[in-house]
Amino acid sequence: MFINELTQDIRYLKGVGPARAEAFMNLGIETYGDLLEFFPRTYEDRSVVRKINEIEDGESATVTVKIISSDFRRIRKNLSILKIVAQDDSGYISIVFFNQDYLRNTFKDGDEFSFYGRVIKKMLPEMNNPAYSSDFSDFAVIQPVYRKNRYLTQNLIRKSMKSALEAKGSFLEEFFPDWILADHNLMNYRDAVVNIHFPGNNALFMEARKRLVFQEFFLLQAALLKIKDMVNEKAPMKKAVHDFGLGNRYIEHLGFRLTGAQQRVIAEIRSDLSSGRPMNRLVQGDVGSGKTAVAATVIADICNQGLQAAFMAPTEILASQHYRSLVKPMEALGIDTVLLTGSMKAADKRDALEGLTTGKTGLVIGTHSLIQDAVEFKSLGLVITDEQHRFGVEQRTVLSNKGNAPHSLVLTATPIPRTLALILYGDLDVSVIDEMPPGRKAVETHSIDEGKRKRALDFAEKRMKDGSQVYYVCPRIEDEGEDEGLVSVDAIYEELKTRFSGYKIGMVHGKLRQSEKDGIMTDFYAGKINLLVSTTVIEVGVNVPNASLMIVENAERFGLAQLHQLRGRVGRGSEQSYCILINRSRNPIALQRMKIMEKTNDGFIISEEDLKLRGPGEFFGTRQHGLPDFRIANIYTDIHLLKEAQQAAIRMMSDKNGLHMPSNENIIERIEKMIEDFGSL
Ligand code: ADP
Ligand code: MG
Repeated sequence: MFINELTQDIRYLKGVGPARAEAFMNLGIETYGDLLEFFPRTYEDRSVVRKINEIEDGESATVTVKIISSDFRRIRKNLSILKIVAQDDSGYISIVFFNQDYLRNTFKDGDEFSFYGRVIKKMLPEMNNPAYSSDFSDFAVIQPVYRKNRYLTQNLIRKSMKSALEAKGSFLEEFFPDWILADHNLMNYRDAVVNIHFPGNNALFMEARKRLVFQEFFLLQAALLKIKDMVNEKAPMKKAVHDFGLGNRYIEHLGFRLTGAQQRVIAEIRSDLSSGRPMNRLVQGDVGSGKTAVAATVIADICNQGLQAAFMAPTEILASQHYRSLVKPMEALGIDTVLLTGSMKAADKRDALEGLTTGKTGLVIGTHSLIQDAVEFKSLGLVITDEQHRFGVEQRTVLSNKGNAPHSLVLTATPIPRTLALILYGDLDVSVIDEMPPGRKAVETHSIDEGKRKRALDFAEKRMKDGSQVYYVCPRIEDEGEDEGLVSVDAIYEELKTRFSGYKIGMVHGKLRQSEKDGIMTDFYAGKINLLVSTTVIEVGVNVPNASLMIVENAERFGLAQLHQLRGRVGRGSEQSYCILINRSRNPIALQRMKIMEKTNDGFIISEEDLKLRGPGEFFGTRQHGLPDFRIANIYTDIHLLKEAQQAAIRMMSDKNGLHMPSNENIIERIEKMIEDFGSL
């Protein structure tokens, strides 16, 4: 009802007008409401008094000083100078006012004044036209600093903000229900907006910021939950699955007992299957936690219904590996299983495609070649994407569209901090396999510098002599091109062939032909290659239990999450495994990151720590995970508020009746606006 007051065009604000309104528009500000929620980028704190001799050249600061002398001169008709010399117990400062004649009798010798301004270091440090007061408490105001453009000065934005608050502040209405304010101890909306722009004091600023950060997280979470609800409501009804006999038979013949976590996740998936709605679930489990067995169980359950399953892996190496490990157990259950990759012979491909069209084939395992037009299913009931961070959402969708709203299961080992999973995968339900199969020995990790590399090679030789296999990972393929100083697969391969002449050394990287890659991987699986020099093509999924040592060159160049994935290639057998990280950087952060790898094998801890050290931007790379830009919240430092806001949003959105009470009208409006802002999501 008051909404119109805040949706009015900013051009009617005192001192703005059409031209400046345009400049504001440039900052995304069109209405009073937009302006009031344009939060400061930072603040100028004048309340801290500095010693004159400690202020750096160019720095803005407050000094409280005694006036020693004051000299007013008129230089020309239109130029006057008031020059004051003042002192604190650390030294002298010169204060100069230009063309401010009315100040000529203000500063009397012996009086005390505070000044705030930019200090220029000359013979004496100097401030020009500073803010001043004889009462220091005037300076205890914190000034907002806004993001600006070249058409708007900082002062103009501040003034506009002040007038907007005066004119429209009273229309800023609380939209959170009382229980949220009470449970989370939040300042009300109006006070928060006032104090985020012009904080009464530091404590009020902290309260204001807390409220607004919470609000930002809350609205995002609530919007994501609402989107999920809308997707669920739109989803067609499906035949509910209640017969899990074939999946259970698969489990019985596994040869090992599922961990408690695997059993729990299978139960969560089966409850989706029996709900009568399409499943949209993310299974997150650290490297080696056994996601494949979970996926295979679900495949059997689906095929048992006479439906087909598609299992998409990001690389051919991984797709072939899944095929190799699943083809026997699946066919034993009567499920015809095929592999479909880009490099297959045309005739084999044709056979595979035909089996899918006729419905003879129950399970197809492949790469993104599965999403090509030629691939048609008789009745696709389940789409599984392995290591989903390698695929875009669109690819998942294209594959799903080949069936009639099939169930969708996404597997990932990317150790996303738990708190972020909901933001990143807001449209999916999340299950976590948080337990490792028994008997796994943690990989022993050592970070070394180049000087110790020779010893690492000796160690590799010893492992090979004992019949174990070794991975040797390099950050690039050839020595030519950019990024000098990075170790290459080519160079290491040449070196090690000579160094380990008694052993078979292999090399694999992305530029080889698929048949070559396959040949080498097959030899490595079979133990015919003792040491494999590779790029990160072996990063995900590759499973060779006899490999017990990994050496990584230029470890400092990799993300910790990626190092963790790589390291997951060893420690898959019963033997103690090792990972040696060769760090060629002396940067203290690089050293700290290596320490984290030495200290823990827990992917979640690693990702949280990496996030702390590098910040979300670098951690996630170039927005590849679609993290939103926050106006005020900082996803790392405010993580505790993110958790609180998540809880509140879940509580609010799951109370479907309460949601429609009139008192919630305003917050619903906010959430809907947020969804609009997502645009095409
Ligand atoms: P990831 O989760 O990384 O995809 P995999 O599914 O490849 O892990 O499993 C890693 C290895 O652990 C495989 O060799 C698999 O057979 C084995 N495994 C999976 N679950 C169990 C279990 N409950 N007990 C023992 N071994 C298991
Ligand atoms: Mg896997």
